[in-house]
Amino acid sequence: MMTRIGLGYDIHRLVPGRKLVIGGETIPFEKGLLGHSDADVLVHAACDALLGAVGMGDIGDHFPDTDPRYRNIYSIDLLTAVYRRVSASGMELVNLDATVFAQAPRISPYKDRMAARMADSMSVDKRMISIKATTTEGLGAIGHGDGIAAMCVVLLQSTRPATGN
Ligand code: MG
Repeated sequence: MMTRIGLGYDIHRLVPGRKLVIGGETIPFEKGLLGHSDADVLVHAACDALLGAVGMGDIGDHFPDTDPRYRNIYSIDLLTAVYRRVSASGMELVNLDATVFAQAPRISPYKDRMAARMADSMSVDKRMISIKATTTEGLGAIGHGDGIAAMCVVLLQSTRPATGN
């Protein structure tokens, strides 16, 4: 059985006057992430991990932030599109593991719903999705509340029968 691993990382700036959307969940907070899309840092990291695993470039290659079609787009819809491309290449998700780095707000109350939304968007079992969260103990740009980052790894397996032996 052929397997592939993929890695994704993303960071967005926190600014006033934007909705905060992480893992497809809208989180009540006085600031939101700045970006061309909804700036869903976790979903962007997941998209990059999936694309990386199949060697299909990154999210910017597929959905350029200069394209007006993707302005303020709900990134969960991009994850659906990315996973469709991954599936078409003959691979399926084994598991996805991600960490969100945020000093505030507290992410942990939303982790379960984020996992459910991301699983739904790919039509996979929610148990394949693990979302974790941490602060950076007040250190650096994230610790100062300037932004939120996310990292994600995925493991994929081939959906096609192995050839040869
Ligand atoms: Mg991004």
